[in-house]
Amino acid sequence: MSYFEQFMKANAAYVDLHGTAHLPIKPKTRVAIVTCMDSRLHVAQALGLALGDAHILRNAGGRVTDDMLRSLVISQQQMGTREIVVLHHTDCGAQTFTNEAFAEQLARDLGVDVAEQDFLPFTDVVESVKEDVQLLRQSPLIPDDVVINGAYYDVDTGKIIAVTEA
Ligand SMILES: [Zn+2]
Repeated sequence: MSYFEQFMKANAAYVDLHGTAHLPIKPKTRVAIVTCMDSRLHVAQALGLALGDAHILRNAGGRVTDDMLRSLVISQQQMGTREIVVLHHTDCGAQTFTNEAFAEQLARDLGVDVAEQDFLPFTDVVESVKEDVQLLRQSPLIPDDVVINGAYYDVDTGKIIAVTEA
């Protein structure tokens, strides 16, 4: 038994609420949000976003990886977004391990060697936001006139705190 069956039932109710409407493919606010996969962060609700408003790009930690850049380039150059918000959060799963310990765990449990891989853990959420904002500012794939801001979300209060860029 998986949750999938339950999801299909929930979706039937959602379809009733949704109704039929075709929104434009290009996000209305022209914003892309780079954030974490954390289940306690409901990005749309936290930022007041409706369907069709923004691209929300998520991975573990909300880190600027090659694949995050791939999505951002498509978001900007194909879908017209012109602003980026890096949104990390407190109590992140990316703060619970080091690369070394994680590599040891995966070698033991899965028999794989990932000693060379950086899983992008971090200790200080303000620093991780600044790091990723800096990576975006330095990337030749992101035009200089794109507005880039960074912030973090407090999972206990729902409050978003702006981070001053380095
Ligand atoms: Zn996280």
